[in-house]
Amino acid sequence: MKVGVLALQGDFREHLSALGECGVTGKLVKTPSEVSEVDALIIPGGESTTISKLAKSFGLFDLISKRIADGMPTYGSCAGMILVAKSILDPASGQETFGGIDMQVRRNAFGRQTESFEVDLAFAGISGAPIRSIFIRAPWVESCGSGVDVLGSLEVDGKSHPVAVAQGRVLATAFHPELTGDNRVHRYFLEEVCNK
Ligand code: GLN
Repeated sequence: MKVGVLALQGDFREHLSALGECGVTGKLVKTPSEVSEVDALIIPGGESTTISKLAKSFGLFDLISKRIADGMPTYGSCAGMILVAKSILDPASGQETFGGIDMQVRRNAFGRQTESFEVDLAFAGISGAPIRSIFIRAPWVESCGSGVDVLGSLEVDGKSHPVAVAQGRVLATAFHPELTGDNRVHRYFLEEVCNK
């Protein structure tokens, strides 16, 4: 299976390394023909507005949206989570998403005072120790449809917010497993989500 990492902006190199540590040689993709050739796609963390604008100017936006709609296994972390959401609660002007998961996300949901933090997170479907999760100006899932599996949540002010979700062959995390050296989320994507 050829796994692409969308290499327009953000921490795509870290995802490529994480794939390598899982025994998979990923490919950085940024042209329509490169995106057409991969069997699965990772959308990295970074800045979702920039990635969506660049995807449009590189002629990738409609192609990626269609490939996801047609069932291409896709994993988005942080900005990538925003980009696979059906909608954004507080989009930047003109900001659009590829879609893939029936959810609405709130950008920068954890607020300025906690723009970055780390926490141990229980992740449904991944056994062993909790996942050390790094949140950097991260979104959370504000609401999602009944077809979405919530794999991990964080409680803020007494309210639980999903931060790891999957629907069909699309996985999204608000945090960055590509930055921790713990590749269990990438393995979960490769072994569980891609094989659905
Ligand atoms: N806040 C960023 C956005 O809106 C996401 C941050 C990240 O990917 N670390 O795209």
